[in-house]
Amino acid sequence: MLNLKCDICGKLITEPGALLFSPPIDEKFRVEKFHICKSCYKNKLQRILRYNNILKFKNDSKDL
Ligand SMILES: [Zn+2]
Repeated sequence: MLNLKCDICGKLITEPGALLFSPPIDEKFRVEKFHICKSCYKNKLQRILRYNNILKFKNDSKDL
């Protein structure tokens, strides 16, 4: 069981939805990592991806 909190809603993640990495933030190319729960992925990120047609060909059949 994961013991992580979603970086969007702050709730404990029971079902992982997505991992988001920032662009490199320093000269060592370290990145910020965000954990996103399934609910936020579905309600927030997936909507953005769909809106921009990013998921049009990739995940049409995969309904989370
Ligand atoms: Zn969340």
